[in-house]
Amino acid sequence: MRIVSSFRDFAPEPGPTIGLVPTMGALHEGHRELVRRARAECDRVVVSIFVNPAQFGPNEDYGRYPRQLEADCDLCAAEGVDAVYAPELHDVYPDGFSTAIDPGEIASEWEGAFRPGHFRGVVTVVGKLFNTVLPTIAYFGWKDLQQCLVVTRMVRDLDFRVRLEFVDTVREVDGLALSSRNAYLEANARLIAPRLYSELKRSGEAIEAGGNVQEELDQSRLVLRDAGFDIDYFAYVDMKSLESLDTMLLPSAVIAAVRLGSTRLIDNYRLHRQA
Ligand code: AMP
Repeated sequence: MRIVSSFRDFAPEPGPTIGLVPTMGALHEGHRELVRRARAECDRVVVSIFVNPAQFGPNEDYGRYPRQLEADCDLCAAEGVDAVYAPELHDVYPDGFSTAIDPGEIASEWEGAFRPGHFRGVVTVVGKLFNTVLPTIAYFGWKDLQQCLVVTRMVRDLDFRVRLEFVDTVREVDGLALSSRNAYLEANARLIAPRLYSELKRSGEAIEAGGNVQEELDQSRLVLRDAGFDIDYFAYVDMKSLESLDTMLLPSAVIAAVRLGSTRLIDNYRLHRQA
């Protein structure tokens, strides 16, 4: 017998490794990239598809969020997925459901500020997925950068025995990050939308090259407003704490959420792709 103070380094249990890709469906090439990583690295691959009402605000798009289970299953089958976990609402939230995970301070700014309760809904359902699927590795996209950090914190704080892997954002040729919500963009908005990433990249590269943080951010905000974007936030932040930075520090990222008409887009540019 030995006395241990941490189970982190304990030998993993024998048996197949399980890769989990949590999604809300309406799968696209971005999701496909996560699935491919899981397929390459794990013995079994599970894709979960669940449009989680708890992470939508009362005036958000839960009702009209695209649902296409059959096409999603075809994509998963083509990528060699072993199981699609598509629970019903009552499977995830049985009668009298009342317990939740509080993601704390890291979830209070940026997306958390504009979408109160969003990350509480996310981490609660992700925690449930970890408990049901028991993945060895779970795959998330850097596109939702704050989500990556919030889930990382939850896994550490609550000792979930899962490894997390983050996958670079898959983009259209014009730079627009793939998103299930891109389908909402009207033709004109679709033409303007790639400017979000071009400004994230431009200001990120300028900061990387020693440019003044405030000036670069202001310039990008101006360009985007002129192009017709409403900006929720466009900020340069520390990648660990998500606090705003005035000067260049690594690891860091330029993060943004904008609205084009009724469509809300989020994206980011990570300096140096470190971390
Ligand atoms: P969602 O279905 O939007 O909840 O996304 C499921 C997972 O796919 C999340 O981890 C996202 O960050 C990730 N994801 C969404 N869009 C992309 C993209 N364009 N490239 C890579 N990963 C993505």
